[in-house]
Amino acid sequence: MREQIEDLVKLQQIETETVRIKSALNDVSKMLDDLDSGVKIFEQTIETQERIINELKKQYRDHESDIQLNLEKEQKIQAKLRSVKNNKEYQALLKEIEDVRGKNSEIEDEMIDFLDRMDITEKIITTKKDEYINIFEDAKSEKESIKQNAEARKKRLAELDMEGAEVSRLIDPELLKRYLIIKEQSPGGLAVVLVKDAVCHGCNVNIPPQLYNELFRCDSLRFCPNCQRIIYIKP
Ligand SMILES: [Zn+2]
Repeated sequence: MREQIEDLVKLQQIETETVRIKSALNDVSKMLDDLDSGVKIFEQTIETQERIINELKKQYRDHESDIQLNLEKEQKIQAKLRSVKNNKEYQALLKEIEDVRGKNSEIEDEMIDFLDRMDITEKIITTKKDEYINIFEDAKSEKESIKQNAEARKKRLAELDMEGAEVSRLIDPELLKRYLIIKEQSPGGLAVVLVKDAVCHGCNVNIPPQLYNELFRCDSLRFCPNCQRIIYIKP
């Protein structure tokens, strides 16, 4: 009986490890996706800043051509000014020139503002791009290690599968059936549990002294009166 119990415990360990590995493998694709989307989000923040700077550059160029247009306008007025006949007309043209110059000065102020904002955005982009190299490399190596880990786990799963089949063959079919039924009913899937110092490690409840003493005989299958699991003691 002792050997049978030992084999059951072994089988249980194999099954527990299998469940643990499978659940870890289940998380792999999500972990890889999370790393990818972290990198993607960072790329998008850089793209956003690049869009901002391109928009600023476009507005800057538009302002430049507005200034050019106003300068041409002013030249035309200056030309008119030279052939003007009366003072009223002369004053009106001077006023026009003043207006055009005023507009250009406003535009120039805005351009300075654009330059400042371009400078700030440029700095943000440079910093973000430096950070990006690290983020990309970190994600890459982390993904690599996750994949390697997963490969090792898959290999281990195959081993466990074989070990499980091997151990199962050694266990009496009736006992195995019973084990599976108890496992089905037990929270956490543990069907065989250790008793130490008269305490069942499945439910942490004391087992009766009589039963505890019987356990040392290892002559038949015994169950915890509280949680109904198969119990055993370490010799
Ligand atoms: Zn118990």
